Amino acid sequence: AIDVPVSELALNPERGGPKNLPIARVLVDDDESEGKGTCKHKPKLVILGCGWGSVAILKTLQADQYHVTVVSPSNYFLFTPFLPSATVGTLELRSLVEPIRTILARIKGHFLQAEAESVDFSEKLVEVSQVIDGEKRHFYLPYDKLIIGVGSKTNTHGVEGLEYCQFLKTIDDARKIRKKAIGNFEKAVLPTTSDEERRRLLSFVICGGGPTGIEFAAEIYDMLNEDLIRHYPRILRNEVSVHVIQSRSHILNTYDEALSMYAEERFARDHVEVYTNARVQEVKQDKIVFSEKTEDGKVVTKEIPYGLCLWSTGVSQTDFAKNLATKLDKQTNKHALETDTHLRLIGAPIGDVYAIGDCATVQYNLAKNIMTFLREIAWEKGKDPKEVHLTFKDWQTVAQRVKKRFPQAAQHLRRLDKLFQQYDVDQSGTLDFNEFSELLGEIDNNLTSLPATAQRAHQQGQYLARKLNKLAQVAPGMVANGLLDGDLDETYYKAFEYKHLGSLAYVGNAAVFDVQGFNFAGGIAAVYLWRSAYFAQSVSLRTRFLLFMDWAKRALFGRDMMDL
Ligand code: FAD
Repeated sequence: AIDVPVSELALNPERGGPKNLPIARVLVDDDESEGKGTCKHKPKLVILGCGWGSVAILKTLQADQYHVTVVSPSNYFLFTPFLPSATVGTLELRSLVEPIRTILARIKGHFLQAEAESVDFSEKLVEVSQVIDGEKRHFYLPYDKLIIGVGSKTNTHGVEGLEYCQFLKTIDDARKIRKKAIGNFEKAVLPTTSDEERRRLLSFVICGGGPTGIEFAAEIYDMLNEDLIRHYPRILRNEVSVHVIQSRSHILNTYDEALSMYAEERFARDHVEVYTNARVQEVKQDKIVFSEKTEDGKVVTKEIPYGLCLWSTGVSQTDFAKNLATKLDKQTNKHALETDTHLRLIGAPIGDVYAIGDCATVQYNLAKNIMTFLREIAWEKGKDPKEVHLTFKDWQTVAQRVKKRFPQAAQHLRRLDKLFQQYDVDQSGTLDFNEFSELLGEIDNNLTSLPATAQRAHQQGQYLARKLNKLAQVAPGMVANGLLDGDLDETYYKAFEYKHLGSLAYVGNAAVFDVQGFNFAGGIAAVYLWRSAYFAQSVSLRTRFLLFMDWAKRALFGRDMMDL
């Protein structure tokens, strides 16, 4: 037992939980009256991860309502939208990160640089581990409320040879890419390097034509044009090549078609080679093998030698999230942890555990709900729903109930309005329930498959913090003691509603915007708009200052071409 609170959290003298591990207790200054190490007044809020979702919570949560402990292997928040710019030195790595302890200071929260391994939902314990001097130490962290915001990992799609690829998810990834790219330039100008080898070293291949891959390609292109000739006058521009391999028919395929066409035209003009309808088969140490579907439908196998290959083909679940999903019977989604519309983890004791950001997906079950409501009406009429004629008015009653419960589904319900109106006017016998279910399934998919973006994680974090602020006021103590668990969320707070504010992407001295149906693409003015949009979202005055300095430094002196 530790008597003096030298660390933020200390271990209890006794062990516990299913694995009989030491249990950490929260040591807080204001609990002296209750005896050291106890925290009777405030609920213990444990947040796993310090990414977009978690930081939005920390910035919105009121101080003094919860004892907050954040657990994460990284002790900083990373501003991912500018990560591609850091791979080529347009921005410095330090300008993209903010220490998590600085963010936590306002709410006097604790931070543990460690990894969550598992959760025991019945005893409300998170199993945490950290490696110290080669020894892995485990302990339990108790919680009253747990928020899981552990993000995602890169999707490998089962392709072999990815150990030769670079990834772009962390600060370390960006550092490795920068080192490798500059290292390749240095090797390319050595007298012992053959022409063929030089072309390979100067070939950049990007697997994945989503925003990250495209922005990386654009940054590489900028660096080649703006700094390469000055620093490496012996390298000929036409010896350097940039290739994008995209599995869909267009790059930036989640954006409006006009914008992806604009980006493709821009890349064609800038000699960035784009292969669409192409699938990587294998990555070898020095070349990439992929198949491409030609316009006449034939599939041809191609190879590109590379010096640097970036793998950026979407995200998949972390091992921790996968482990949690297998523990909970009701989790059926293979890609993310399912939550209800209040962001509560489905299958966990209700009101205790929430999941947000890339690791989570909201399960609307709209189809199931609508079918249940319709069945109820049909049975009220004393008939099987497949036989009874449900009128447009019946449908409106159902739609009202659904809209009340899922406001975000309103626009989708209009499609069903039309279907019912037509069927009621025609009086065409019974409704085709199979066709109807199919349409409902499609609507459910649209609602559930929200993009894994910082925008969504941020909105979910803000939503959760506002709800926790409210709950702490309406039911102080009760939240802590679990007296009112269960229906608190639904009673006191609305369901989460995602508002898509738009998508932006940098495409090399130009940017594209897809903002609430308004599309815009353009040159330098758009680039400044793109920068300003993200600059405004930057997490602190410190990072804003650093970003500003980096842009000014680059404009005056160019990028530093050093493999530090
Ligand atoms: P993250 O921000 O990924 O944070 C996860 C946190 O969990 C990290 O701190 C991690 O260390 C921690 N963690 C992981 N495992 C554990 C564990 N077992 N225990 C405890 N902690 C753990 N989105 C946009 O909207 N716009 C963009 O322009 C954009 N650009 C991007 C560019 C790049 C290069 C990348 C990689 C992503 C980009 N995204 C963008 C996507 C965006 O970054 C993610 O959607 C967002 O980070 C998700 O937030 P999150 O809080 O769910 O997870």
